[in-house]
Amino acid sequence: MSGEASLFDAIVVGSGASGGWACKRLAEAGLKVAVLEVGAPQPDANFTEHVPAFELEYRNRAPEIVRQTRPIQSHMACDEYNYKWFCNDLDEPYTTPPDRPYLWLARLRRTGGRTNSWGRVSLRFSDLDFKAASRDGYGENWPLSYSDLKPYYELVEEYVGVIGLAEGLPHLPDSKFLPPMALDCQEVLFRNRVKEKLGRTATPTRAANLTRPLHGRAPCHYCGPCYRGCITHSYFNSSFTTMTDALHTGKCTLISNAMVYQVKTDQDGKRARSITYIDRNTHQVHEIRGRAVILCAQSFESARILLNSADERYPNGLANSSGALGHYLMAHIRNAGGSGELPAFGAKPSLGGPKRPVDGIYIARFRNIENVPTSKDFLRGYGYEGGGFLRNDLQAPGYGEAYKKAVLDPLAGVSFTGFGEVLARSDNFVEIDPKVKDRWGIPVLHISMADGPNEKAMSKDIAESIGEMLEASGAKNIRTYANPSNGRWAAHEAGLARMGSDPKTSVLNQFQQSHDIRNLFVMDASGFTTNPCQNPTLTIMALCVRSCDYLMGEMKRGNV
Ligand SMILES: Cc1cc2nc3c(=O)[nH]c(=O)nc-3n(C[C@H](O)[C@H](O)[C@H](O)COP(=O)(O)OP(=O)(O)OC[C@H]3O[C@@H](n4cnc5c(N)ncnc54)[C@H](O)[C@@H]3O)c2cc1C
Ligand code: SF4
Repeated sequence: MSGEASLFDAIVVGSGASGGWACKRLAEAGLKVAVLEVGAPQPDANFTEHVPAFELEYRNRAPEIVRQTRPIQSHMACDEYNYKWFCNDLDEPYTTPPDRPYLWLARLRRTGGRTNSWGRVSLRFSDLDFKAASRDGYGENWPLSYSDLKPYYELVEEYVGVIGLAEGLPHLPDSKFLPPMALDCQEVLFRNRVKEKLGRTATPTRAANLTRPLHGRAPCHYCGPCYRGCITHSYFNSSFTTMTDALHTGKCTLISNAMVYQVKTDQDGKRARSITYIDRNTHQVHEIRGRAVILCAQSFESARILLNSADERYPNGLANSSGALGHYLMAHIRNAGGSGELPAFGAKPSLGGPKRPVDGIYIARFRNIENVPTSKDFLRGYGYEGGGFLRNDLQAPGYGEAYKKAVLDPLAGVSFTGFGEVLARSDNFVEIDPKVKDRWGIPVLHISMADGPNEKAMSKDIAESIGEMLEASGAKNIRTYANPSNGRWAAHEAGLARMGSDPKTSVLNQFQQSHDIRNLFVMDASGFTTNPCQNPTLTIMALCVRSCDYLMGEMKRGNV
């Protein structure tokens, strides 16, 4: 094992949405930071959003080539263009019970983590979420309120750039918006009719995609495939924003290809002393010391590091005196939705037109909010992502001239997928699988998660409600569906080291600081006490900045 001589003020694990912000906030304040990232650096030269398919070896037409090494990752945003950014599933396995399949998608292995290929929908939480337990009696409240986080949402949004339209909904607070992307005709019709007939809000999608220049980044030019990168830096990716800022300070050291294995503590177990990591290429083990340790590796990976760091004092995982570590796994159900056809209003499909990179519409939650009757079937709520489509109908019936004409007739309409809250339940959990190790000899996770009755009832309602809204909009050929979530949840994992006021039932306090080990923080979504239906990343980033400010205050006060 080789040791790093220097002691850092903070060691950050992971350089994605949360890690990027931790590095920027701390390094810009003058702290000496090391960031350990298992992935390789991500220069703009890696981006392929403007590369035509004919320049690829297999023209992006041979998914089985990608599936050979990425059988899991190739299910989402991972194809011949970018598959090398994703983990090799054979090198980095995990296990599940046979009757509880789980697709652990989106395991990015590059500076910037998942923000390289994310969908960028950015929504604030509200006190309907933070204080949900007070309202419906289920689970625990967050140990903080919307007013604690609001200034940090604003700070993050001003830097990231979030597009959207102010709607004044108390349960989906408005951000500091840049102008939204335009809706198409079907979306305008849907938005207006659903508001008029059902009082529900279908708002232009709120997303971290620029429509105006911001901090040296150009507005989007509508080329389309953002999951392959963006040389104009028009969407938010921590690799070319927060991480770049942090590295420019000269105070932040990026250590790439560093697979973190364990956090080690002092002899009395009260302070995190160092981190051991394995170089992905050489397999050499290193140890690095820091005054504070901040895990930002994404909920599953941060939990895995803590569970693998079990020692005599913490036999069930580091910082786990509560027993809550590894439990209360949440994601989003997203296996219900629907579509319907609407008039094309004279528009013609075009392969060469501008490609809006985000869905047109987000339908805000309307179940179990203030001033509406409470659902008898399920707790909490859901929203929908989706929008208009306009395409040639290649499935049109007929032959010859009739078929050609039918194909050219545009098929237009709207299509939506629900994103629903999964309740925090102890029996959705992860643990270390003692029998299986990854390529570097590190024990892997066993993930056990399934729909409960609440998720099943919510899925059914998601399908029924979108049918109702499609009807209200005047759509024809309405199709709805509600499948079991098992196996395919949204890549919005949260929980596993939850925050709370009581150290007996939670792992972290409201500043994502371990109750047990004062210089250990987990600043990704692990601390989420609930996982409301809104996408998590804006909140991950705001919480992270707030926790970094607290950490620096504690360092000044001599408490860390
Ligand atoms: C296709 C796709 C669409 C998405 N759409 C949305 C959306 O619309 N809105 C939204 O809010 N969210 C979306 N997400 C989710 C979003 O990307 C994540 O919520 C967010 O990036 C999580 O931030 P994080 O810092 O926790 O983790 P990440 O951004 O994943 O960063 C974690 C980093 O830690 C590194 N790491 C992991 N393990 C180790 C280890 N042992 N040692 C060292 N480094 C390690 C990883 O390589 C990675 O770089 C989407 C994700 C994907 C992939
Ligand atoms: S569509 Fe916009 S954000 Fe996406 S890659 Fe192109 S320019 Fe960048």
